[in-house]
Amino acid sequence: MNIVLLGPPGAGKGTQARRIQERYGIPQLSTGDMLRAAVASGSPQGRRAKAIMDSGQLVPDEAMIEIIAERTAQPDCRKGFILDGFPRTTRQAEALAKMFTEKGLKLDHVIEMTVDEAALVERISGRFTCGQCGTVYHDSTKRPRRDGVCDVCGSTKFVRRDDDKPETVRARLKVYRDQTAPILPYYRRRGQLKTVDGMADIDAVTAALFKLLGEP
Ligand code: ADP
Ligand code: ADP
Ligand code: ZN
Repeated sequence: MNIVLLGPPGAGKGTQARRIQERYGIPQLSTGDMLRAAVASGSPQGRRAKAIMDSGQLVPDEAMIEIIAERTAQPDCRKGFILDGFPRTTRQAEALAKMFTEKGLKLDHVIEMTVDEAALVERISGRFTCGQCGTVYHDSTKRPRRDGVCDVCGSTKFVRRDDDKPETVRARLKVYRDQTAPILPYYRRRGQLKTVDGMADIDAVTAALFKLLGEP
């Protein structure tokens, strides 16, 4: 099963993609996580990406398309995958469609998660993740069960993203409106777009997603 999760920064894509991964045994492919790993590796590509990410802009389409083509060719993607953060431009959406055709794959679900803009800023400003396993938390809506200890792996190291500062968040929301939102009509025209209400609490959103994915 191949899934695309769409929605603005802070909509809950990463949180839900992890739950889908667990339930369906298909990997979450987060282009943001892949880029952050490249940044951490200190490679020249990573350094170039960091400057772009810190400004809230998008990394060039060609680079992203190549990253996704390589990643989806890995053996763990044979039963399917969840795209979280890709495509982000019409050009990426078109390249993805071409890749699916060439590889004989089917895009089973394109799901948009909708969240009010005011809530997005609040969500992103409170976001932090486990430095070891990447589980996503929030200062008020999703704290670890034991303060300072990751629920999943027990690590006590947490990280906050450099681009989750309010100024950068506003730039990212504008980039979403200008460059990413136009792919919604692209999928709608093809009859592929489904929507879930991302304003509901985390478990309710998960239930709505599982239902769309075919659970009774
Ligand atoms: P995205 O991957 O779309 O940028 P995340 O999954 O990282 O979004 O979620 C952004 C922040 O909002 C995180 O701190 C997360 O814990 C929190 N969050 C996610 N979903 C919800 C929800 N349904 N209600 C409240 N907070 C949420
Ligand atoms: P969020 O879901 O909170 O917006 P991501 O982790 O998906 O954040 O992305 C962080 C940053 O990585 C983006 O602001 C952008 O600079 C870059 N990025 C991630 N995915 C893409 C993509 N598909 N195309 C271009 N840039 C990307
Ligand atoms: Zn952890």
